[in-house]
Amino acid sequence: MKIEPRTLKGFRDFLPKEARKRQYVLSILKEVFESYGFEPLETPALEYDEILSGKYGEEGDKLMYRFEDNGGRKVALRYDQTVPLARVIAQYANDLPLPFKRYQIQNVYRAENTQKGRYREFLQVDLDNIGSEDPISDAEIIAIASECLDRLGMNDFKVLINDRNIFYELTENGVNEKDLNSILRTIDKIEKIGREGVLNELSEKTGSNEKATEILTILEQRQMNFNVEGILYYLKSMGVKNAEFTPLLARGLDYYTSTIFEIKVDGYDSSIAGGGRYDNLIGMFSGKEIPAVGFAFGFDRLMEVLDEKNLFSANIKGIDVLITFDESDSEREFPYEAANILRESGFNVEQFTDNRAIDKQLKYADKKQIPFVLIAEYGELKLKNMKTGEQKKVSLNELPNAIKQI
Ligand code: AMP
Repeated sequence: MKIEPRTLKGFRDFLPKEARKRQYVLSILKEVFESYGFEPLETPALEYDEILSGKYGEEGDKLMYRFEDNGGRKVALRYDQTVPLARVIAQYANDLPLPFKRYQIQNVYRAENTQKGRYREFLQVDLDNIGSEDPISDAEIIAIASECLDRLGMNDFKVLINDRNIFYELTENGVNEKDLNSILRTIDKIEKIGREGVLNELSEKTGSNEKATEILTILEQRQMNFNVEGILYYLKSMGVKNAEFTPLLARGLDYYTSTIFEIKVDGYDSSIAGGGRYDNLIGMFSGKEIPAVGFAFGFDRLMEVLDEKNLFSANIKGIDVLITFDESDSEREFPYEAANILRESGFNVEQFTDNRAIDKQLKYADKKQIPFVLIAEYGELKLKNMKTGEQKKVSLNELPNAIKQI
């Protein structure tokens, strides 16, 4: 019986063209992370159910992939990378000196209703500093996120910074603590529904227009606190100039304890990176509070924005040269020697591995948009520029310069 080739809803294949772009972006991100002394961490896709369950609220528990494995163990698929990190911190407490600065880039799994930008398997890019309390560590995290975007060629982004504690002060202005989260969820929508929209929703929630206006005005007029001031000061010395205090920024209300930040690109509603300080989460398996600050890129969103801004073409290195194959060629080692010379000079060289007519091999190169073909035929090498069609005879010792010249 023929099996229909298909993939599960929310799970994706990335064919070479797309995968190459993703790998390129990841290579830049890793390079930047490592250059700041952050180290890679990898954890398993499957964890004991009890490690993950109950850590992401009702919604998370509903979306988590859980099952019994073949040995009857209750297991769950990684839902994010923060809870596994908290487990690692507790499990290897003696081996990992704090601060522990790590990045983690792995797939996570959520049984979401799929829609544009929402998948069931997606890559998370997390960078966190565990164990540091000082605002300099918050600033460093933001500087790293910002440098990643610089390196990717983005120049029209802004870092918005706030401190959740600013919102707690609302309780001094007659807002009940239990209503605070609901009010902040409304404030969080200001980019989407505008000031009027927020006022309307706040009026409904508080039962009065005056109260709504008062809350919004208080927040709009808030001055930055000591923490934000410190972070902005450090950021300046770290060379980050496009960061600003944003008193209405209210993201991630569930576990952030002070600093919150988002990176927004001009012309896009949702942010491409976000993070903050979360001092009560990492200690969940350690039995004590461990301060932490970090951020995550929304990787799919980041890819989308880079694509739309056309920031790939100049930077992505594909296959440079295809070397043709001719079975009847008596000097068989000749093309391989050429391939090695070119590879040693940094070119990506594909050797054709099937005995097909030369024009078929050229068509193949064309389809894969390989810019040069080295035709190895009758003991001779001919270099063809696929864009211009120009072709010339070359000898082994003319390689690799010939490619630069043609
Ligand atoms: P969260 O762990 O929910 O804070 O999400 C971290 C990042 O992953 C955010 O940038 C989200 O945009 C992104 N994200 C969350 N859920 C999905 C999903 N189902 N598919 C793709 N990206 C997602």
